[in-house]
Amino acid sequence: MTYKRILLKLSGEALMGNRQYGIDPLRLSEYARDIKDIVNKGIEVAIVIGGGNIFRGVAGASNGMDRVQGDHMGMLATVINGLALQSALENEEVPTRLQSAIKINEVAEPFIRRKAMRHLEKGRVVIFGGGTGNPYFTTDSAAVLRAIEIEADVIMKGTRVDGIYSADPEKDATASKFDNISFSDVLSKGLKVMDTTAFTLSQENELPIIVFDMNKKGNLMKIVSGEQIGTTVS
Ligand code: UDP
Repeated sequence: MTYKRILLKLSGEALMGNRQYGIDPLRLSEYARDIKDIVNKGIEVAIVIGGGNIFRGVAGASNGMDRVQGDHMGMLATVINGLALQSALENEEVPTRLQSAIKINEVAEPFIRRKAMRHLEKGRVVIFGGGTGNPYFTTDSAAVLRAIEIEADVIMKGTRVDGIYSADPEKDATASKFDNISFSDVLSKGLKVMDTTAFTLSQENELPIIVFDMNKKGNLMKIVSGEQIGTTVS
């Protein structure tokens, strides 16, 4: 196996499947099975989950809501998604722990780095909910932050597209895909991988990012087995 400990970032929107809002249980169980397969190979898996399928602070602010209030709603949305993912993983008999960056002790453990690492060593999947616990951040930033903290080998960003392209492949037919690209080339070409805060944090800490299509069954396993899937930023 190429990696021992990974941090998987799943956006809230990924959980919608073909819906316009909320959580698609079928999509969730597909993800759970893919995750189970790599856990069974001995890979330590931590997951940061987004909340965009339920609420985003910026969207609230554009409708006149206080931004911090909206961001708190967004962070709680990530906890809801975390609970859903935990349940889907447990249905597949994968041991999990949900840790939250905002205290919500009846529902999730508080985020404690050493405890998270211990869970991982014991083969439990650790889901990080609540983002960074701070407004004005995104769950991409939370993903990079947690990946660095738990000393993950790589951050895997599961998306709907199969990697990073020279232009938006859904809009531009001439767009070509990169297999590998450097952090500085992503910046100089103005490509979108993550928001700037998250991306810079990853670059400064030399944490590679793999962007890949999470909706293609077996992709996770292929990546951890060393196959060239998606785009690697390093
Ligand atoms: N959020 C936040 N701080 C964080 C992470 C998330 O305030 O550290 C809020 C923010 O409002 C964000 C929402 O939670 O819009 C959902 O997260 P995100 O947009 O990153 O979810 P994704 O796009 O991955 O579904």
